[in-house]
Amino acid sequence: MVKPFSFCPVCSKTLEWSMINGRERKICLSCSWVHYINPVPAALAYVVNNKDELLIVRRAHEPAGNEWALPGGFLEAGEEAHEGCLRELKEETSLSGKIDRLIGVYQREVEKYGSLLIIAYRVVVEDELIFLNHELLEGAFYPYHLRPEVRIPLHRQIIHDAALTELVS
Ligand SMILES: [Zn+2]
Repeated sequence: MVKPFSFCPVCSKTLEWSMINGRERKICLSCSWVHYINPVPAALAYVVNNKDELLIVRRAHEPAGNEWALPGGFLEAGEEAHEGCLRELKEETSLSGKIDRLIGVYQREVEKYGSLLIIAYRVVVEDELIFLNHELLEGAFYPYHLRPEVRIPLHRQIIHDAALTELVS
């Protein structure tokens, strides 16, 4: 887990634990600053081409380095979730996508970052020429029967949920 602050980021005094709004939180008794720990928002992209093949990438770095995954990343301040989703896709693969629909919103605890709020979109691309950036080792569009095994539980969940929303649409 991400370590809680020890000192007040406003006035530098030592923080104390206290029960605030139903949770143990750290508070500065000097200036009343409270350390609320909020999830970090991220977006993941379930990207298909016009043959309905799924883009699967292999991550170069931790967390889940070397694992097959869906592309995505953290949102920037002031950015809409769908914009961040398409921006991350473009940064990692150079692909320009269009949002098709929301697949779901998920919460996960990740060792390196703490609590994440993940927003997953189905994205379609016309031009599928891929240039990978340093964050990825491989990436390609795969037909269903040739897909590498995605083992990251959340990414598996999103692939599963994307298929479900496909059926109802
Ligand atoms: Zn303080």
